[in-house]
Amino acid sequence: MAIATIAIIEDEESLVEALEYNLQRAGYRTIAARDGYAGLEMVRRERPDLLILDLMLPGIDGLEICRQLRKDMHLPILILTARDEEVDKILGLELGADDYLTKPFSMRELIARVHALLRRAGLSLPASAAGAGPAQILQSGDLTIDLTRQEVRRGDTPLPLKPKEYDLLLYFFRHKGQALSREQILEQVWGWDYVGGSRTVDVHVRWLRRKIEPDPSHPTRIVTLRGTGYRFEG
Ligand code: CA
Repeated sequence: MAIATIAIIEDEESLVEALEYNLQRAGYRTIAARDGYAGLEMVRRERPDLLILDLMLPGIDGLEICRQLRKDMHLPILILTARDEEVDKILGLELGADDYLTKPFSMRELIARVHALLRRAGLSLPASAAGAGPAQILQSGDLTIDLTRQEVRRGDTPLPLKPKEYDLLLYFFRHKGQALSREQILEQVWGWDYVGGSRTVDVHVRWLRRKIEPDPSHPTRIVTLRGTGYRFEG
């Protein structure tokens, strides 16, 4: 299965990095440009499967890029806007954008929109989003994570997790046995769009422990490393 290529035109460097990191983790190939002219040129040259397009850009703005591309290209376009007022503009001008997200948005939401747009366009999704092979199930002790369905089970019982609890547990699974600092966890799981400090990590660990520890007051699965962070024992 060919890997879908997602193009990003966005001038905010930290957001480009977060988008690339999360899209690649979801199984996509990414290409990025930081201004309008370079972006337009990149899309025409590389013919990506989908475009994530910021509206306010140096060079040509996102609206004009949309207008230009729509003359001869049919790729799905997901618009990023900084303000709600711009949404009226996007919809009103009927630029042919397929979807939009207002900043700040969660990476989880963005990935879901990307999957949906690609599916609608009839493109195959990466294995992490589409296929249901055995490789998509992660297991540790009595816990299983079904990456395709984004479902967690403890034994045979489904374990309802909030989105960030799910992300955190997945991160722990992938770094089993490793000492992880709060800052590291915060950066990797919450990324650029988090608002809280590293206390956020502690709160979510506490919630997760209630759901996965045999005795949450004496945790053995997610152990606290004094003064630094946590280690997932499995
Ligand atoms: Ca911008």
